[in-house]
Amino acid sequence: MPPFDRNFYSIGSVRIERLNIFAQATSLGTYMSHVAPKFKLFNTLTRQKEDLQTITPGKVGMYTCGPTVYDYPHIGNFRAFVFEDLLKRWLQFRGFQVTHVMNLTDVDDKTIKGSQTQAKPLREYTNFFANAFFQDIKVLNIEPATVYPRATDHIPEMVSIIKTLLQKGIAYCGEDGSVYFAVSKFPKYGKLSHISVQELKVGARVSQDEYAKEEAQDFALWKAWTPEDGDVYWETELGKGRPGWHIECSAMSMKYLGETFDIHCGGVDNMFPHHENEIAQSEAATGKTFVNYWMHNEHLLVEGKKMAKRLGNFYTLRDLLSKGLDPLAIRYLLLSTHYRQQFNFTFEGLEAAKSAIERLTNFLRRLKDANGKGGSRKVNELTEKVEGCFGEAMDDDLNVSVALASLFDFVRDVNNLLDANELSREEGTMVSKLISNLDKVLGVIPKPQEEALPAEAQVLIEQREEARKIKDWKTADAARAQLKAMGIAIEDTAQGIRWKRIRA
Ligand code: AMP
Ligand code: ZN
Repeated sequence: MPPFDRNFYSIGSVRIERLNIFAQATSLGTYMSHVAPKFKLFNTLTRQKEDLQTITPGKVGMYTCGPTVYDYPHIGNFRAFVFEDLLKRWLQFRGFQVTHVMNLTDVDDKTIKGSQTQAKPLREYTNFFANAFFQDIKVLNIEPATVYPRATDHIPEMVSIIKTLLQKGIAYCGEDGSVYFAVSKFPKYGKLSHISVQELKVGARVSQDEYAKEEAQDFALWKAWTPEDGDVYWETELGKGRPGWHIECSAMSMKYLGETFDIHCGGVDNMFPHHENEIAQSEAATGKTFVNYWMHNEHLLVEGKKMAKRLGNFYTLRDLLSKGLDPLAIRYLLLSTHYRQQFNFTFEGLEAAKSAIERLTNFLRRLKDANGKGGSRKVNELTEKVEGCFGEAMDDDLNVSVALASLFDFVRDVNNLLDANELSREEGTMVSKLISNLDKVLGVIPKPQEEALPAEAQVLIEQREEARKIKDWKTADAARAQLKAMGIAIEDTAQGIRWKRIRA
C-alpha cells in the first residue's frame, strides 16, 4: 500500500489532490477533511437543494433586488442585504469571482409620492436616501456590489424589452395608454411562486406595482402619465409615462449579467408578484431561461409579524445606533439565523450577539499572549475539525448556525489549551489567522483600531501603574474597580498589561 499522503486522496487507482481552502489561514499542517467541496443552495424554483453549477466555471453572476430609495431602510430590509452579503462572501471564499448587481429602485409609486410630499425633484429626493443607504451598508460591514444601477438611468433598456414584447404579441396597449403584459400568453407563468394560473381572470389588469396572489392578472410594463405623476415622466416610443417596477429589474439585471445568469436573490415577499413577473417579461422577450437559481430570505419579525413600514413595527439602523447599539452586533444578529427561517427581532437577541462577538475579540486578544511549549497534536486536530465543520455547514445552503457552533466549540477548546499553557506563540498566531480568515466570511469582528482602549481607561491604567509602583494598593484597586465599571478588565501578564471587554 502506498504511504498515506495528506495532500492527496484516492478513488481506486486515481490520486486526487485535496483542496485546501484554508491554506492561507494556517501552516499547522492542516488540510480539508473533505474533498472538493460543492456548494449546495436551496433553489426556490425547484424547492430543492441543488449543487451550484455556474454558467462560466469559477464565476458567479448575481442580482439582488436593492432598496426602494424613498425612506431609510428598516433592519428587516437589512436582513435581506446581510444574507446576500454572506452568500457573496462565502462564494468568494470558495474561490468564485462574483459579479454582484444591486439595483436602486428610484422611480415607483412610493418615490414619486415622497418627492411630491417634500416638494423636491425626484432625483434630489432619491439621492438623499441612496446616500443614506450607502452609509448604512458601510456601518453594517456589507461589502459593496460591483455595480448599483439606478432605474431612472435605464429607461431605454426597459423600453426596448417592452417593444420586443409588443412585437411578439405578448404585451398590449390598454385603453388607458399603458402597456400590459398578457399573462395568458406566457404558459410558464407561476413557475416560481406556484400560483394557480387557472385562477387568472383573462384581460383583468392591475396597474399598481404591489398586489396579492389572489389578484394576479395582467400587469403594467409601462404606465401612461396621469396627473398624479406630476413632472415624473419620460417621452418615449411607448408614449409619455414611466416604467412599472418589475420591468426595472429585468432590464438592469440582463444589461449587466446577460440574458441568463446564475443567482437572483430577494426577500420572500418579492417572490410574487415581483420575481414571477421578472421571469415572465424576461423569458417571453428573450426565449431563454432568465435565472438558474432563485434564493429567497425569510422575514425578520417583530412579535410574530413581518417587520414592515406599513405596519409601523420597524426600526431603522439609525434608530438602533442612536440607542448606542453596536452595528456589528446587529449584523451578527441578522446573519446568525439561517436565512430561510423567520425570527423575531429582540433587544435580548442583540445582547447575545454582542456577547458572541466579545467572546471572539477576547479570544483573539488572549492568543497574542500564547507562550506555551506548543507542539501538541491537539491543536492540529482542533483546527482540522473547525475547518471541516465550518466549510461543510456553509456549503450546505449557508447553514450558518452550525458553522458558528463549530467556531465557538473551537474557541472553547483552544481556550482550554491556553489555560493549560499548551499553545506556543507561533501556534497562537496561526490560530488568530484562521479566525481572521473565517471572519472574512462573517465580517463581525471589529477591526483592531475600532477596538482601541478609550482614553479615559488609558488614564486609569496609568494611574493604577503609578499607584502600584509606590505600593498604594488602595488607589490601584480603586482604578481597577473604575475600569470594571466601564466594562474593562485588566490582567497583568509577562508581556505587560492586557485588557478585555466584560459586562459592566
Ligand atoms: P424594498 O426596499 O421594500 O424593495 O425591500 C428591499 C429588500 O428587503 C427586499 O429583498 C425585500 O424582500 C426585503 N424585506 C422587506 N421586509 C423584510 C423583512 N421584514 N425581513 C426580511 N427581508 C425583508
Ligand atoms: Zn427587483
